[in-house]
Formats: sequence, C-alpha cells, structure tokens
Amino acid sequence: MKYLYALFLLGVFSLLLSCGPSVKPADKVILGGTIYTVNDDQPIVEAVVITGDKIEFTGKETEARKYIGANTEVIDLEGKTMTPGFIEGHGHFMGVGYNELNLDLMYVKSYEELVDKVKEAVVKVQPGQWVIGRGWHQDKWDVKPGKMIKGFQTHHLLSEASPNNPVYLYHASGHAAMANAKAMEVAGVNQLSVEVLKEYSEEGGEIIRDEMGNPTGIFNERAMGIISRHIQQDENSQAVEALTLAIQACWRNGITSFHDAGVSRESIELFKQFKNEGKLGVRLYVMLSGWDSKSMHEWFSKGPEIDPDNLLTIRSVKLNCDGALGSRGAWLLEPYTDRPDFFGMATFPMDSVLSVSRQALKSGFQVCSHAIGDRANQEILNRYEQAINENPGVKDHRFRIEHAQHLHPDDIPRFGQLGVIPAMQAIHMSSDRPWAIERLGEKRIVEGAYMWQSLLKSGAVVVNGTDAPVEPLNPIPSFYASVSRKTLAGEPEGGFEPEEKMTRAQALRSYTLDAAYGAFEEKVKGSIEKGKLADLVVFTGNIMEADEMDILKAEVAMTIVGGKIVYRK
Ligand SMILES: [Zn+2]
Repeated sequence: MKYLYALFLLGVFSLLLSCGPSVKPADKVILGGTIYTVNDDQPIVEAVVITGDKIEFTGKETEARKYIGANTEVIDLEGKTMTPGFIEGHGHFMGVGYNELNLDLMYVKSYEELVDKVKEAVVKVQPGQWVIGRGWHQDKWDVKPGKMIKGFQTHHLLSEASPNNPVYLYHASGHAAMANAKAMEVAGVNQLSVEVLKEYSEEGGEIIRDEMGNPTGIFNERAMGIISRHIQQDENSQAVEALTLAIQACWRNGITSFHDAGVSRESIELFKQFKNEGKLGVRLYVMLSGWDSKSMHEWFSKGPEIDPDNLLTIRSVKLNCDGALGSRGAWLLEPYTDRPDFFGMATFPMDSVLSVSRQALKSGFQVCSHAIGDRANQEILNRYEQAINENPGVKDHRFRIEHAQHLHPDDIPRFGQLGVIPAMQAIHMSSDRPWAIERLGEKRIVEGAYMWQSLLKSGAVVVNGTDAPVEPLNPIPSFYASVSRKTLAGEPEGGFEPEEKMTRAQALRSYTLDAAYGAFEEKVKGSIEKGKLADLVVFTGNIMEADEMDILKAEVAMTIVGGKIVYRK
C-alpha cells in the first residue's frame, strides 16, 4: 500500500513538472530577435511577455513559451531589434501635428512644381482659408526661375495660382517664408506703419522689395511675423486633426511618450478630451507654458495632476529664458565671435525664474527652463540653486534646463551636483555645429558646446530628443548624432569633439529610461522589466551593433503602446 501511495505521489509530481509552474496564458509573447532592455541586471533578453498594458515576464524564450495559450498572439521579430518605446524628451506636440497638416515642399525640384503643389492644395480648402507649406529651398531646385530678387523667386506665379486663398510657405531653414498677394493683402503689408516696419526689421528682419519698391513675397527672419501672426486663428479650427496627426506621427517614429515643452490651456483641454474618448495613444508629459502666468499660478494652487492611467501628466512648467544661436538670441557671457558688440539677451526676467522656482518647489512642480547660451544657463543654475537651498525639505526636484547647448566650463559639474537635468537634443549638434563655430569661436565650442559626455561624467542625467517640429521627430538621426557627433552626411571623419560622444548604451538610455527619469516616470516605464508599461519599439536594423553609417538606415518596424500594436510598417 505504501509503495502504491509513493507511486501515486510520484505520478502527481511528474504531472506537475511536465506542466511546469501554473502560469496564466498571456496576451502577447514577443521573441525571435535581439531585445535590449535598458535594465542593467539583464541588458539583453530573448523574449518578452505582455498581459494587459504591462510586461509580465522577460527572459529566456523557453520560459516565455509557457505563457502561450490558445488566445496568445505570438510576435516573431524575425531577427529584428526591440528596445523600450522611445520617449521624445522635448518637443511641441501640436506643432508636430500642424506640421503634418502643412504642405511638404521639401522635395520639389522647381518653382513651377511648388506652384502646382499649392494649386492641388487650394482645391481642397474653403475660399479664404490659409494654405501653409514648408520645406522649399530655391538652391535645391534643378531649374531656377527667370526672375530672382536677392536670391529668391517672386510671388507672381504663386499669386496667379491662388488668387482667393492666402498662401504662406516656410523656407527649409525656417528663417524665411514666402507669401502670395492674398496673404500680403490680409496682413495689410502695403499699409504697415513705419513703427511696425521698424519693429519687424530688427534682428535681421527684412521684407524683400523689387526695383519699384513692391514686396516680392519674401519675408526674412523677424519680418516673417508680419504674415504669420494672421494665421494663428485659423489653426484652432484644425486642432483636432492636428492632434490626431501628431499621435500618428509618434507611432510611425517609435515614440510612445512625449514631453510637450510649453502647452496652452486650450491644448490641455483638447488632450483631456482625447484621453476621455480613448484617443490619446501617446503618453504626454505636459510642461505648462510660463507665458500664461495666470494659468501657471492656478496650477500652483491646485497642485500637479499625475495620471494613474499614465497618459496625461501635468506637473511641470516651461520658462523660455533666451533665444537661439542661429539668430544670435542666445544669451552669452562674452560677445558673439561674429558680432563683437552683442551678447544676445534674456527673454524672461531672472527674478521670475527664482520666484517661479520657489513656488514650484512648494507646490510639487518641476521647472524646465529653456537656455541655450552660457550666460542663460549660468543665471538659471544660480536661481535654481538658491531656490533649492531655501527648500531643503524637497529632496527630489528634478529641475531641468532645456537644450543646455552652450555652458561655461565651470558650470558643467553643477548639473550633477545640483541634480539639474540637461534635456539636450543631439540632432541640433548635427545640424548646427558646422556654423555654430562662427557664433562662438573654437575655444567656446570645444570647452562648452553640446557637452554630453562631460555632463554624464559629472553625474547628470541627460535627456535626449529632437525639439520636433524644429527637427524631424524621427529619433534615429538624433540617436546617430549622439554616438557619432557627425552631420547626417557623415561629416567630419571621427565626429566633432569626439570625446563628447555618448556610447550607444548611454544614447539608448537618454531616449528611454533617463527620459522617463526626467518626468519622474522611471519606475513605470523606460526599460523592459516585469511590471512596467509595455511600451516597445521594433527597429529593422540593430542600432546598438550596426556600423555607424548604417544606424541611419534603420527604420521603425513596429510600435507598441500599453501592450497594443499601434503601428506596423
Ligand atoms: Zn522647443
């Protein structure tokens, strides 16, 4: 009898063993590729198991297969590479959407082709509605127009093509734009007062005129505002469409979360509406716009909104403290190399940076200040330091400086010491470094510009991104710039200031786990770990191992947000 009982027990045991531990079948099992987790304990795994919107298991394929049931979707990566979903650390969400609505003129090969594109667009809109385009570049056209004034075409052909709809087309550089006659009529260009003309002609602003003194349709730099200030109103009616397009653009680019740098109350309302309707398919981290001081203070008194659904969190304010290097608006300690009487300037009172920082610390908000020049960065670090020291009770402020492009060498270690996060967009280095040296000169470039590795070594957490739509939202060029410090054409050999390159592991972290840290969200996302949100991206190429130039060939093959496949190439 004893013997029989023992045999029975053995049978039960072997039955249990053959079934393995009892696991519930999962929703998805992903395997068959290289999976980089950004989890130091287990950097590469064979498989990921998803249940609901969370990661249930990561590890060996043999283990993961135990989660496969009748209704489990098995995704075979077929050798492709998977990483945590990318987090855009600094962009302008609605701007990305509006950019998608606009006419893309990047690839037109002549003025005639540009006009044809506008004709097609005009047919689709109501009379009087604006047609907005972007990306044209007259130097890239195969055929030059017969008549050129100051290096640009004139508006006449465009005006004939669209007599009733105002048209405004931004140059690829973003520093000029072209208007048709209707747009100039709407803006009252010919009736502008001397004062207005003077205001818009500062800082290189110019309305180009022909030999008779008539505007040719080209508006440079600040003068672009003469036309663009009339467009705003029209954009509001397209907000729903723009937001939908921004979400889709993120999915297409492997972006599963987005730090929105400076958001109006209208946009927040629209985000909430989308969330309630189940349409907000990208996780938004909102920085309130510091320009709207009333709204900011309302938020300070009611406190942050941290979303338990991890879709729409509002706990941050954005202050715009200086301009850009290109327009010499960045605020410098020493004058511009190519304009020795000029230092740039602050665009936000430094006293207010201090008072906002104090209030933010008291009410649980993070401060994110835009600073490009070394003076702006230093002044902000000083204000942050004072406010932080006055509030020793706040242990985890995570204040940020957006861009932190040019730093005085003495200020570099202060980021790590103070726990201030530099949110830097590596792609800006790639696009701007070739001419930035004219603005700053070699010494300042070498000692203080785009100092990613020095900041990391100082103990700072660096957040990456693109500033989309200023640069394209695609994270791959910015990842490439992070590790190569080259232009997208692959120049120069060895990269600019190569000691400041990030390693590939650092670059991946800056776009995932460290970007999540920049939003207090590293415990719920940013790496592929059990219990975290199942936000994932699959790339066609292995961005962690491929030859440097081949990184740019990688494309997004699949994007998963909260366990749902939202994009498949
Ligand atoms: Zn920005």
